[in-house]
Amino acid sequence: MKLGLKTLLVFLIFLVSSLAIAFYLFGFTDDATCPKCNGTGQVWERRYDFTVDAYVNGYWPCITCGGSGTVYFPSSASYSLGFFSGFVISFLLVFALDYGITTFRLDWNPWVKDVKEMHFWFNPMYFVWLFHTHRKKWAKWTTALSLIAAILIVTTFAMPLIAVSTSAAHQNIFFGWLIGMTLTGPFALTWYLNC
Ligand SMILES: [Zn+2]
Repeated sequence: MKLGLKTLLVFLIFLVSSLAIAFYLFGFTDDATCPKCNGTGQVWERRYDFTVDAYVNGYWPCITCGGSGTVYFPSSASYSLGFFSGFVISFLLVFALDYGITTFRLDWNPWVKDVKEMHFWFNPMYFVWLFHTHRKKWAKWTTALSLIAAILIVTTFAMPLIAVSTSAAHQNIFFGWLIGMTLTGPFALTWYLNC
């Protein structure tokens, strides 16, 4: 069996078992006492009461928890799966984009194909040349750079998540991000070995 195929199998087993263990330990959701009403399910507020057509000061059902006193949010295992999917999708998109751009640039600069030796430093055509002559080496660079780009993209887009979620969920978001990233490393390696 080829190394790439073997790695793919090992990675799939690793991925499925780590997610299974994570869901077994942490479940799909977590709950916490509602921070808005402190678990009472009611808040003292001034709200418009349609039955009497006037603003009324009084205890109203808490909107944050729907009056139950408990808020539910994804567990760290759910966030891990979410972040992992986000990282993988971004990684594949960046890789595909790079592949497309490089193919396009090679078509526009066919002279690159005749160059015997090219050096990296300050050479804008280096990766195009590498793409044509040493595809595997190009794939190694592109995998590494796409991985870094994916982590930056997902982390940037996930920032507002911290702001909109209850503070009890912050720890789950952080661990989900960390575990998702940890799983994406072996994914990128497997991708490189198979491409
Ligand atoms: Zn509440």
